[in-house]
Amino acid sequence: MILVTGGAGFIGSNFVLDWLAAGNEPVLNLDKLTYAGNLANLASLQGDARHVFVQGDIGDSALVARLLAERRPRAIVHFAAESHVDRSIHGAQDFIATNIVGTFSLLEAARAYWLTLDEADKAAFRFLHVSTDEVYGTLAPDAPAFTEKHAYEPNSPYSASKAASDHLARAWHHTYGLPVLTTNCSNNYGPWHFPEKLIPLMIVNALAGKPLPVYGDGQQVRDWLYVKDHCSAIRRVLEAGRTGETYNVGGWNEKTNLAIVHTICDLLDEMRPRPDGQSYRAQITHVQDRPGHDRRYAIDARKIERELGWRPAETFDSGIRKTVRWYLDNPEWVQGVQSGAYREWVAAQYGHEGADAR
Ligand code: NAD
Repeated sequence: MILVTGGAGFIGSNFVLDWLAAGNEPVLNLDKLTYAGNLANLASLQGDARHVFVQGDIGDSALVARLLAERRPRAIVHFAAESHVDRSIHGAQDFIATNIVGTFSLLEAARAYWLTLDEADKAAFRFLHVSTDEVYGTLAPDAPAFTEKHAYEPNSPYSASKAASDHLARAWHHTYGLPVLTTNCSNNYGPWHFPEKLIPLMIVNALAGKPLPVYGDGQQVRDWLYVKDHCSAIRRVLEAGRTGETYNVGGWNEKTNLAIVHTICDLLDEMRPRPDGQSYRAQITHVQDRPGHDRRYAIDARKIERELGWRPAETFDSGIRKTVRWYLDNPEWVQGVQSGAYREWVAAQYGHEGADAR
């Protein structure tokens, strides 16, 4: 069994589905179900004994200690985090509590559990800390992409909290010998992405006839990776990564935000034309830029390719086409997320919201 934290979030739920599609090893999924956690993403696993869900906080050390002692996972894949930069700007409290203090608490619980294992299990144990390229800060237009050796220069409360958690994970390896691996990944996109983030927001707003708000001039550059490729990279690092190492994960897809929005509009023009025959591009509006907005991120993913033979399977063109298709095919999911109906669904499945929903 493996323990996955944050397995009801965007990447975590894709990972749980992918993991159980690829093999039969059970997953213990610990998630607090914040606004970003959505068990509807995992509805296809209902009745599947390989998925054990527990609603709880990674910072609840008594709960985590009990789960580790009872379930005895061979690895922890740590996704749980507050993940939205804009929210971190409006209030960083939860980011500090979960991303920093919560990760500290989880590392301590993992270490205490790891010390109880026999030598063979101890050597095989893995703590995989999932992080972001945003810890490296911003890049000049012509600067080489971030390698694992790039200095940490986080600029938002979100990236600062993730940088802190990366340092804690690193220290728990160097100081205590905990077998930690860290991945720093670029922007993900794909199914079950909460519609506060750029790609799903644009798709959902376009279809609703609402404005498509682009920050500033829209020339901010990001590297994009289809979420299933991120999942395969994490599986590969868990399987063959060297402990104490970090691996950058990216899709070799640098795009400006405006180019992303244009691509989405063009795909929707093709797949679901507007009734008035106009392009969805007519809905684009430029809004005031986000404070401290990093201009460019780019990931150099050569280490994971060289050492572990991982490469993304999707190009940006194939991945974004699948993503737009998914949102067109799953309007009830979008409605559920927007209306909060998925919370009612959780209550119906597990008795009442806020319980240890196993
Ligand atoms: P998300 O916001 O969609 O999901 C986070 C999940 O963690 C939610 O299910 C939430 O309920 C849960 N959670 C939050 N606080 C918790 C707590 N205290 N205890 C237990 N569960 C808690 O985030 P995501 O986009 O899926 O990102 C997952 C991880 O990947 C994060 O660590 C993030 O920093 C990292 N990451 C994300 C991206 C991206 O593009 N989305 C890129 C690189 C790295």
